[in-house]
Amino acid sequence: MTRSEFRIEKILSREVLDSRANPTVQVDLYTASGFGRFSVPSGKSKGRLEAIELRDGDRQRYTGLGVQKAVENVNSILGPKILGMDSREQEKIDEILINLDGTDNKARLGANAILGVSIALARASADTAKSPLYRALAGGRKPILPLPLMNILNGGQHAGNDLSFQEFMVMPAGFRTLKDALRCGAEVYHALRVRLEAKYGKSATNVGDEGGFAPPISSVEEALGQINDAVEEAGYSPGQNVILGIDAAADSFYNDKDRTYAVDGREIDPDELLELYISLQEKFPLKSIEDPFHDEDFENFSRITKKLGAKLQIVGDDLFVTNIKRVAQGIRAKAANALLVKINQIGTLTETIEAVEMARKADYGLVLSHRSGETEDNSIADISVGLATGQIKAGAPARGERTSKYNRLLLIEEELGSSARFYGPEFLKSHN
Ligand code: PEP
Ligand code: MG
Repeated sequence: MTRSEFRIEKILSREVLDSRANPTVQVDLYTASGFGRFSVPSGKSKGRLEAIELRDGDRQRYTGLGVQKAVENVNSILGPKILGMDSREQEKIDEILINLDGTDNKARLGANAILGVSIALARASADTAKSPLYRALAGGRKPILPLPLMNILNGGQHAGNDLSFQEFMVMPAGFRTLKDALRCGAEVYHALRVRLEAKYGKSATNVGDEGGFAPPISSVEEALGQINDAVEEAGYSPGQNVILGIDAAADSFYNDKDRTYAVDGREIDPDELLELYISLQEKFPLKSIEDPFHDEDFENFSRITKKLGAKLQIVGDDLFVTNIKRVAQGIRAKAANALLVKINQIGTLTETIEAVEMARKADYGLVLSHRSGETEDNSIADISVGLATGQIKAGAPARGERTSKYNRLLLIEEELGSSARFYGPEFLKSHN
C-alpha cells in the first residue's frame, strides 16, 4: 500500500433519517483507494455537558430539527480543509476539526458535523488498508467481543409509560460465545413479551425508542421482577448466566428545586434513592447501575460506589459525558467504577479514545454505547471490539437500528474464529 492511496480525495455530507424520524448527518469520505461512511446518532436524555448537536431551528422543516447547516459545515468548511491529507493521521485531523470549530463544546460547526467526518475518516482509512475497522483500531491489542447490555424494557424519556427509570437490561454474561449470549437475550425478550401480554394485555408489548417493551408498569421493582421471571421462563438462571442492569438516567426525574427524585409516584430524597438501589440489588442479580443520581451529584455517586462498588458496576453517563475533564474529576472523587462511552457526546474518535484510556488506567469498566436515536450504521460494534471495551449497550435484540450492531458483532466473532474472546464470563467473575 502506498502513501498516496490514503490521500483524502472527496468528502460529501447529506441529511438522512434516524430511527425517530428525525434528520441526522451522514458523511461519505473517499481516499484514493478506499471509502468510509458514517451516520451520526442522536440522544434524547442528553447530559447537559455534552458536545452540541447543531440543529437548523427552522420550524418549517422537521419542526426545527433539520441538520442542513451541519451538512453544509462538512461540505464547505471541514471537508475542504482536510482534502489531500493522509487519512491515517486521525489525531492530527481530529485536532484540525476541533480547531476549526474553535469552541469548547463544538457549538459553532456542530458535534454532529465533526463526528461525521471523524468516524467516516476512520472507516475510510481502515478500508484503504483493507482492514476491518475493529482491527485497525485494535492496533497490537487483542480484540474482545463485548458483553451486550440489552435494554428489553423501556421507561423514562424513551417510552410513553410511567416508569421513572429509563432502561432495564439483561446482560447474558455466562456464555462462552457472543452468539450464545445474543440467543439468550432474544429468548428472554420473547419470554418477557409473553408475560407482559398475559398480565397487562396486548398493548403492553408495544416498544419504546430502543426496541424494549414499554408496558404500563409504574414500579421499578415490578419491572425487574418481570424480567427476572422471564429469564427463568426462557430456561436460564438469573445470577448464573444472566444478570441485570439498569440505567436510571436520574437527571430525568430529578427536581432541582427541592432536591428530590420522582420515583414510582413518590418524591424521595437521595438517601431514600440510595436505599432503593441497595434493596434492588439485594432482591435481584443487579450488576450494573448507570446514572443513579443527577449529573452534578458527585457526592452521592461516591456514596453508592463506596457502598456497592465492590459487587457491582456504577456507570457514569450524563455524569462523565465521555469528556476527560469530567472523567478525571470522577476518578478523583471515586464517583463511579465504569464509564459509558458515547462517541457523539464528545464529537471525535481521538477524544473518545482519550476518555477510554483514562478510564481504563483507573481500572474502570467500559461500556461503549449507542444513542436512543440511531441509524443502521454499525460502526460502534467495531469500535467496541477494537478498543476492547468489554461491554456494549445497543438496545433490545429487536428493531433494525439495534440489531445492526449485534449482527455486526456476530460477523466479527465469526471472522475471529478460534481467537475470538467473549468478555461475558470475565465480567461475571469480577463482579461476584
Ligand atoms: C442513555 O441515556 O444511556 C441513552 C442511550 O439514552 P440517550 O441516547 O437518549 O441519551
Ligand atoms: Mg444513560
